[in-house]
Amino acid sequence: MEELAINGGEPVRKTPFPNPYDTIGDEEKKAVLEVMDTGVLSGFLGSWSPKFYGGEYVQRLEKEWSDYFGIKYSVSMNSATSGLIAACGAAGISPGDEVIVSPYTMTASATAPLIYGGIPVFADIDPDIFCLSPDSIRDKITKKTKAIIVVDIFGHPADMDEIMEIASENDLVVIEDAAQAAGAKYKGKYAGTLADIGVFSLNVHKIIQSGEGGVVVTDNENYAERLQLIRNHGEAVVEAKGVNNLVNLVGFNFRMGELEAAVAFEQLKKLDVFLKHRIDSANYLSGALSEIEGITSPIIKNKVRHSFYVYALKFDENIIGVNRNTFIDALSAEGISCNNGYVRPLYYQPLFQQKKAIGNYGYPFNLVEKNRLDNLYAINTSPVTENMYNKCLFLTDICNRNTNLSDMSDFINGINKIIRNIDLLK
Ligand SMILES: *Cc1c(COP(=O)(O)O)cnc(C)c1O
Repeated sequence: MEELAINGGEPVRKTPFPNPYDTIGDEEKKAVLEVMDTGVLSGFLGSWSPKFYGGEYVQRLEKEWSDYFGIKYSVSMNSATSGLIAACGAAGISPGDEVIVSPYTMTASATAPLIYGGIPVFADIDPDIFCLSPDSIRDKITKKTKAIIVVDIFGHPADMDEIMEIASENDLVVIEDAAQAAGAKYKGKYAGTLADIGVFSLNVHKIIQSGEGGVVVTDNENYAERLQLIRNHGEAVVEAKGVNNLVNLVGFNFRMGELEAAVAFEQLKKLDVFLKHRIDSANYLSGALSEIEGITSPIIKNKVRHSFYVYALKFDENIIGVNRNTFIDALSAEGISCNNGYVRPLYYQPLFQQKKAIGNYGYPFNLVEKNRLDNLYAINTSPVTENMYNKCLFLTDICNRNTNLSDMSDFINGINKIIRNIDLLK
């Protein structure tokens, strides 16, 4: 008789899975030493001069990034969070403007508008790909809507054709958060290049990384200039540069250092290889799990390449016969831990529940009409998201460059073992 590990049996997996976040090789080490030898760890200067655009390695990364992704302008940042803020600034978000965002994402993709007094308005997600659903976006548009921040969550691009169409009908700016989707594609084009402005992350957890870092991309020259100004003390530069539009040009220091740029440059060369391994691993899992009723492997829409930053499975408690969390606990005891549900819908955060973002007086929420504000962040605003979080979704990050077939097998064996013995959990 087989015994589940949660009931004291032998676990399927006795050793930890490899660290998914170590993507560093000899090339990166060599590149870092090369920068060290130059003695220049940042080439930026916050005034109007050639150094306004950053050092040699930063500029080389940006050029390479534009070439790889087929976009005109790449503006590096010290994080994707900085990139999202700069994108909101460049788009001209103004106090009281509404920005439609996803509740099911890393927090910065929803909070970035707040820095400019923008009001995040949560729409709901598509139950198959977990990105903002076009219908839900339509429902949330008001006269005050100025922009949409779309997230290619887990690495599957959003329904961008339809979303761009909605945006053009309503004169909205679209910012695409592709932090999890480097190398993903939609109808032949790279994720991140599908909207007016796209944001990538080079944070340690992402598909390629430099510890911290980000890159913002656009084909629009005006946005590119504004991104560069916001990145690097715009207010000190506008006069000499001859920039007349001062809206949102109080600058920050969002600049990337030369070391990070050198590492990111090497990582970009490896993106294709990293991605192929992720996709192969994911396909292997999906093939092996396809027989299990009640567990659905990731859906990939037509003409999409998924980057599998996260491999997200759907769980049907009515078919399996136990709830997801019970299942995940049993799986974890087998040595295979999964995230049960990704993030709590973001409107649950105290920030939104208490409507306190900037300063003591409730800014920018105090700009919203009282009746509207009372409903804006109501519990269950986004029912599909709530269901994914509470009951339906579980995630693994094992589709990464450091895992092999035997790791995949353990994952599959763990799930199969629990399914075989599901009655023991009832
Ligand atoms: C990681 C992540 C970010 C933030 O990236 P940082 O570079 O850490 O600031 C933003 N959005 C999404 C969807 C992310 O996954």
